[in-house]
Amino acid sequence: MTKQAVSSKYLEFLRNIGVIAHIDAGKTTLTERILYYTDRIHRMGEVHEGTATMDFMPEEQERGITIASACTSCHWGKHTINIIDTPGHVDFTIEVERSLRVLDGAIGVFCAVGGVEPQSETVWRQSEKFHVPKLAFINKMDRLGADFEAVLEGMRSRLKANPLPVVVPLGQGEDFYGVADVVTMERVEFDQDSQGREYTRHPLTEEEASLVAPWRDRLLESVADFDDGIMERYLGGEDISAQEIRAVLRAATLKLQVVPVFAGSALKNTGVQLVLDGVLDYLPGPLDVEPPVAHMENTKDKCSLDVSPSAPLGALAFKVFMDDGRKMVLMRIYSGEIKAGEVYRNVTKGESERISRLFRLHASHQEKIEHAYAGDIVAAAGLKGARTGDTIATPEHPYILENIAAYKPVISLA
Ligand code: GDP
Repeated sequence: MTKQAVSSKYLEFLRNIGVIAHIDAGKTTLTERILYYTDRIHRMGEVHEGTATMDFMPEEQERGITIASACTSCHWGKHTINIIDTPGHVDFTIEVERSLRVLDGAIGVFCAVGGVEPQSETVWRQSEKFHVPKLAFINKMDRLGADFEAVLEGMRSRLKANPLPVVVPLGQGEDFYGVADVVTMERVEFDQDSQGREYTRHPLTEEEASLVAPWRDRLLESVADFDDGIMERYLGGEDISAQEIRAVLRAATLKLQVVPVFAGSALKNTGVQLVLDGVLDYLPGPLDVEPPVAHMENTKDKCSLDVSPSAPLGALAFKVFMDDGRKMVLMRIYSGEIKAGEVYRNVTKGESERISRLFRLHASHQEKIEHAYAGDIVAAAGLKGARTGDTIATPEHPYILENIAAYKPVISLA
């Protein structure tokens, strides 16, 4: 296979996503479950005791909240999912913006009791500003007072979103016992024997089917609204396949016309795998999104970025952190290929530096890699002068990407 073919195959199966939520909605629990299911961690840290996998900075451990934007890579089916950790506290809005800038899609987590809380609104609006397509996970369906429809209403009235349930709860609060896939009309259960890594699908009982049927009607009506061909067939009483429904929903999600909604309980391992499937089905990969605008360093001429591996490198440093006394720079590659051992130009600083090592960050370990392609997210060691917002490029072709630091936060920082 040529380098070009390898890279486009890889990009097709890549997702760069973030999890955005109001504090306490269950972002950490959901992320931990995802990492567990994707088989990358075998130990589940108790959240808020400083052992949660994504919260690795001492300051966060002290405060018990996620401040930094780390990135964790995991696998689901044939796909690689890079989860970029966005901070959940309003004080760190600028950090949220920085990380939103490099995401292709996001999962918005809501508490089924608390619903759309003020800070969910802030982060949601920021993600809209950056045109980030989203799914919603309505978590804590098991909690007393859980109200799925009230959260949907909150999404409509407060976020001006168009939520469309594709996975609905079976029972709520104390009566919550599972979730149903509205697309396939099946009850989905995690498999106890596999410790939740796998799930099984079961036909709905008659009672469940009558409960889910109105959601299915709503789903089909919306899908028909988005696609004239399907509308005609729907009105003609024809069956619309699960594959067709997902394809239309994906297109509508990418255009920010709809937010597919998933119900569940991260704590009870219910519905989480369906969210992972949803990430693959509905959220965009790097090939589905427009690359940022770039200018040449000297001429200021605008240039378009090229995802092909033979194009000159264009990468954005979006997070700098210390790891065992070594400075690591998290970068989103927008163009070309990045290689360990090569000298690159920090166009923002006007300096050239050698990348000594490249890593992919997993929840429990760092994987040393030799190169990575456009669309991917990597951590680089050796860029001593690099700071958040800097563009790293090929010396012969010094692009400068739109500087994320120039974005103004939506709210003023304390
Ligand atoms: P974060 O602040 O958004 O990261 O929220 P956490 O994941 O830390 O969760 C906040 C609290 O809610 C913790 O005590 C969790 O155990 C609890 N929690 C998370 N998910 C669920 C759920 O599905 N059901 C219930 N009942 N509690 C949950």
